[in-house]
Amino acid sequence: MEDQINTLQQWIDDSRNIVFFGGAGVSTESGIPDFRSVDGLYHQKYDWPPEEILSRSFFDVRPEEFYRFYRDKMLCLDACPNAAHKKLAELEAAGKLRGVVTQNIDGLHQLAGSKRVWELHGSVHRNYCMKCKKFYPVKFIKDSAGVPRCSCGGIVKPDVVLYEESLNSKVLEGALEDIQSADMLIIGGTSLAVYPAASLVRYYRGKRLVLINKSPTPYDSHADLLLAAPIGQVLGQIQVR
Ligand SMILES: [Zn+2]
Repeated sequence: MEDQINTLQQWIDDSRNIVFFGGAGVSTESGIPDFRSVDGLYHQKYDWPPEEILSRSFFDVRPEEFYRFYRDKMLCLDACPNAAHKKLAELEAAGKLRGVVTQNIDGLHQLAGSKRVWELHGSVHRNYCMKCKKFYPVKFIKDSAGVPRCSCGGIVKPDVVLYEESLNSKVLEGALEDIQSADMLIIGGTSLAVYPAASLVRYYRGKRLVLINKSPTPYDSHADLLLAAPIGQVLGQIQVR
């Protein structure tokens, strides 16, 4: 592992246009449960599987159940950025990292100081009235009871991409452009099994594809450097210089 960390350090030292692409594993070290892990939400007991609760058709038909689950399981507002979030923010501030592409909705990259973050699945921190589009902070959702309502009567919906909903095209385009122009792509904390993760990776054309994940992924053989370890543990050892 020490050799791999040294190579990673060398490549980061030599790169000026790094892009980071991360998934749930980036936030698990901050205590936020991973949807698809064995101990994750999918294996807990609810009247419906979380995958169904977090779908648009479920939201439309049973909004009360949706918000009960959402407040209980999706709003981890006490979580703090970990070593991975902090190092990526440092790299951006030092002019070495172009941007972060994330599948997470927790806003921890921004909390750590990252500025250019492509949130593929949206953010719990943005919420809008479905009728008048008025903005509401996450605290409003957290503190309200039942289905959160705007002063106009409309339902206030989190700006989070539910199952059956499409990704925001501007966010997707921005992420693709950054990945295409990166001189180094670091992928961390994702199994690359979920759409659109795998298809995004194919846009990278460079020679420094780094994969950091605790468990194997379908892309391991494509990686120029593979580190089988938690992302925070790896990035925590990197010097920004
Ligand atoms: Zn409204």
